[in-house]
Amino acid sequence: MKTWDSHYIGGRWIKAQAQATFSVHDSSTEEVFATVPTGTAAEAESAVRAARAAFDGWAALPVAERADALDRIAAGLKARTDELAQTIAREVGMPLKLARAVQVGSPIWNFGNFAKLTRAFEWQERVGHSLVLREPVGVVGCITPWNFPLNQIALKVAPALAAGCTVVLKPSEVAPINALILAEVIDEAGLPPGVFNLVNGSGPEVGEVLATHPEVDMVSFTGSTRAGRRVSELASQTIKRVALELGGKSASVVLPDADLEAAIKGSVSACLLNSGQTCSAHTRLLVPEDRLPEVKELLRTAVARLPIGPSLEEGSKLGPLVSAAQRDRVLALVRQGLAEGAELIAGGPDAAVPERGYFVQPTVLRVKPGDTLAREEIFGPVLVVLTYRDEDDAARIANDTPYGLGGGVWSRDEDHAIAFARRMRTGQVDINGAPFNGQAPFGGYKQSGNGRENGRYGLEEFLEYKSLQLRTAGA
Ligand code: NAD
Repeated sequence: MKTWDSHYIGGRWIKAQAQATFSVHDSSTEEVFATVPTGTAAEAESAVRAARAAFDGWAALPVAERADALDRIAAGLKARTDELAQTIAREVGMPLKLARAVQVGSPIWNFGNFAKLTRAFEWQERVGHSLVLREPVGVVGCITPWNFPLNQIALKVAPALAAGCTVVLKPSEVAPINALILAEVIDEAGLPPGVFNLVNGSGPEVGEVLATHPEVDMVSFTGSTRAGRRVSELASQTIKRVALELGGKSASVVLPDADLEAAIKGSVSACLLNSGQTCSAHTRLLVPEDRLPEVKELLRTAVARLPIGPSLEEGSKLGPLVSAAQRDRVLALVRQGLAEGAELIAGGPDAAVPERGYFVQPTVLRVKPGDTLAREEIFGPVLVVLTYRDEDDAARIANDTPYGLGGGVWSRDEDHAIAFARRMRTGQVDINGAPFNGQAPFGGYKQSGNGRENGRYGLEEFLEYKSLQLRTAGA
């Protein structure tokens, strides 16, 4: 077991004040494999001061130097790929091979991509007699969750640093080790002291300091809608900028002219990635009423192709859930749904699972609009099926949640699918299972959040506008 006992503040590893620690569990074996310190409000304060002190110098650096620093971080992460993949596979439970590609490959790519975008970015433009400048927003507090922990950090820290901001990161207390490895990589990359700071700790203790502190200019939060609401309320006192990436209940809509087999297979994958612990997972499947019997058969076949197993075992397609609490929450919601009259199509809360590890069998249920399971984010391997009469009905059901993060549309006619996608109140729609695009904006409508991450859109989140009015009009 590894004991981490320090925070990274002002370019140095500073021994934690409190004796208390968070235990980090291997979600496949339930064993504690590391501990991290629970940071205090005073430590969060000191990190904010360090970030503030470093801001002017970092913001004034030539863009190319900041971009080079991001490239060094990408290279440092790449060199530690095996260790990071093992760590995240154990923390989160994603099967190792997939964790290597998704949980480690994506953050490496994102650090490199933000380096490129920064070099190519138009930092100023003439508008009539004004010169419009883009400048960093200032000190940024980043608060992140556990489900794609390093990538969610990368999508904040990389563009913030690229923009010229300085950062205090508070990662999830459930999956914090990958962030400590990132801090070691950043330390080796030789950034000026205070440009990047890491304080582990709880949301209420450390996170709330970042949300309230007057010297923090922006808080970028990814996590639950509940915590996002709290962060927003606190941040409003100092009118800081708030970016929120929150929950989802995204719909995969199979139109009557879709290739049904491909649509069901693709929808099941888009729901179950990371055992359903994906904010943009397609967790509601909408199918034409008269196709339901075929759909049920196809669903059973698709789910049977995804065996659960320990994350470090070859052959596991789905791992456990992240924690006992998450497993219990998911099982309780499924039981509630069954009690409310949901029909079990596959899996279920009583299906056999390995003795050790926080496993839940992938579960498919038929529900009706308005049911708890049709509206609440479950954040586990649970797909709910809803039927629709016609496309107006499908559009109404697809939009009938407080969220609007992801979604999918399936049709043999791409224009038909695009026309339907325009009716969906959501930030991303995958047409016929098309893959994720790291350059396209990612973020939510409605209670799924504010702002966008990824690519150029993600970089612009961390920039202010400044207009200089000139006498040399149009020059
Ligand atoms: P969570 O809200 O419990 O925790 C997220 C982070 O917020 C953690 O670092 C936590 O310590 C911190 N936090 C908690 N309370 C806080 C407070 N009062 N003040 C400041 N910080 C606080 O969420 P989680 O369980 O880690 O992650 C799961 C949730 O995240 C799901 O709802 C999921 O949909 C959402 N999520 C959204 C996206 C997205 O991009 N939209 C991505 C991943 C996860």
